[in-house]
This record gives sequence, C-alpha cells and structure tokens, in this order.
Amino acid sequence: MTERIGFVGLGIMGQGMAHNLLKAGFPLIVWNRTASKAESLIKAGVQVAETPAQVAAQSDIIVVCVSDTPDVEAVLFGDNGLYETLRSGSLVIDCSTISPVATKEFAHKLTEKQATMLDAPISGGSEGAANGTLSIMVGGASADVERAMPVFEAMGKTITHVGDCGAGQTVKLVNQILVVNNMLGVAEALLFAQAGGVNLEKALQAVEAGAAGSWMLSNRAPQVVDRDWRPGFTIDLQQKDLRLVLEAADKFGTPIPSTSLIFQLYRTLQKQGLGGDGNHALVKALEHVAGFAINE
Ligand code: NAP
Repeated sequence: MTERIGFVGLGIMGQGMAHNLLKAGFPLIVWNRTASKAESLIKAGVQVAETPAQVAAQSDIIVVCVSDTPDVEAVLFGDNGLYETLRSGSLVIDCSTISPVATKEFAHKLTEKQATMLDAPISGGSEGAANGTLSIMVGGASADVERAMPVFEAMGKTITHVGDCGAGQTVKLVNQILVVNNMLGVAEALLFAQAGGVNLEKALQAVEAGAAGSWMLSNRAPQVVDRDWRPGFTIDLQQKDLRLVLEAADKFGTPIPSTSLIFQLYRTLQKQGLGGDGNHALVKALEHVAGFAINE
C-alpha cells in the first residue's frame, strides 16, 4: 500500500523536496506557516492543510523541514502541532538541521503515541532539493530507515544510515564544518587570484576538476564572481548550524579553531545586515580585511 505523505515546511529546501515526492507519485498533503509558499504545489494539485495537526491526521509518514530546534518543537508539540493527531504507527522524518540532543528528546516523546522518528538532515543546497539529488544522513532504527527508503529515494541520491537516533544530526554538523571551511578556502583563493591578475573564470575552470574541486567551488564560486548573493543557504541559517557545531564541540571537548573563526566572520556580516545573503557571501568579510573586492 502506498504510504500517504505529509510535508511540513515549504522553504527553499522543502519546496523542491515536496515537488519531488509528488513527482514520485506519493499522495501528498502539505502545510507551511506562510500559506502563500504552497501556491506552486496547489497548482500541481496537492492538498494543503490548515495546521500541522491536520497533516498528521491524514498521513502515514510526515516529513518536516523547518529552520531550527525550537521550530521543529513548535510544529511537533505546539498548538495544533503534529503530535496532537499523530496516529499510532506514524513515522516522522525530520530533515531540518537541529540539535542532536533535542532530536533524541523529541523522538522519545513520540513513542508515547506509538510513533517513531528518524533524523534525516540533508545536504546539497537548493539545487539538490530541486533536482532530487540530496545527500541524506539518517539516524534511527533500521526498520524505520527501510520503510522510509522510497521517500528518501524520491528526494535524494546518497542516503546513508549513519547510526541511532541523533547520529544523522551529528554527521550533518560534520558536513557543516567541511562546507564552511571549504567556502573560506574558496573566498581566499578568489581574492588571491584576482590580486594575482588572472582571469577568475579561467582560474576556476583550471582547478575545478583537479584535487581542489568541491561542491562549494563548482556551485558557489561562480556566484561570487558574478556578485550574486541570492541564497541557496542563508548566512542566518549557516550561523544556526555553526552554533550547533560550537555547542557540540564544547560538549565533546574538541578544538575547532578554524570553524570558530568562520563563525565570527559570519557574525560581522550579520551585524552589517547581510544575514539574508547566501553563505558564499563569506567572501565579503575577507574583502573587508583585504581592502579590495572581487570584480568591483
Ligand atoms: P528557509 O527557506 O528559511 O525555510 C524555513 C522553513 O521553516 C519555512 O517553511 C518556514 O516557514 C519554516 N519555519 C521556520 N520556523 C517555523 C516555525 N516556528 N513554525 C513553522 N514553520 C517554521 O530554510 P531552508 O533553506 O529551506 O532550510 C530548512 C532546513 O533545512 C534548515 O534546518 C536548514 O538548516 C536545512 N538545510 C538547508 C539547506 C540549504 O541549502 N538551504 C541545505 C541543507 C539543509 P515560513 O515560510 O512561514 O517562514
């Protein structure tokens, strides 16, 4: 029997993911706090709920993709939240990036309703969400992962069961350490290339396929060269993730000097009112230090 899918959170990522679930043929009901963001799905014939509770009442599997830990808590346990009407045997898949500790607490509370939860944070940017090529790092019970696999396969390409509940979120933070350090390298390299008087497009073309290649280099460096700051992932959300990284590293007792520096660099940009820019605008912090800018 085809599982009925509920989807909560139609932001930059959720939009594409919900469209791909529809394309894969799942019966779908969606909810978003700002109702207008459901318009393209309404046009595609998708049912829109008035509350998360209405989604839970009509779904077997519910995918959540909202911003931060308190937001997942709100859609799960707030007024008219999913928990109110969650049915026995339901599976909640949380694709948001949130605290691994809170994830375990949420999953535990859902067992009171005989429901289960997977933490399944995602990577691959807005492009990956739109194209169904996300990397999904999953924490939770093997039986739930198996049940969720058709849903994951509709939204992503690389699906890795990394461990028990909370492990998906921990691995996502590993991912974020890599992403921002990569972006800092890309920003530094572009400034260096420009100061060295080489053509930036040619420089990127030359290094992309070699040992220095990366997703951030291929997808975000061209945006920096064009001074296109539209977000695939906003600085404000990036900072939310780095806060989670710093909290976890403090708990683990792990030094993360470079990531801590990047957190501070992004903070300078937030202070300048640039929190809505894409995370590749990290280069602006270095431009300020360098005293010159890319292509300006
Ligand atoms: P976004 O475009 O800012 O969308 C956030 C979504 O969460 C919106 O649907 C928003 O509703 C909803 N939301 C936030 N707070 C809420 C609350 N208290 N109650 C109900 N709904 C709430 O963010 P995004 O880029 O799609 O990111 C979503 C999640 O995926 C985040 O955890 C992010 O870290 C993660 N992620 C993002 C990317 C990326 O490249 N963008 C990549 C990997 C992972 P409204 O429309 O009403 O504001």
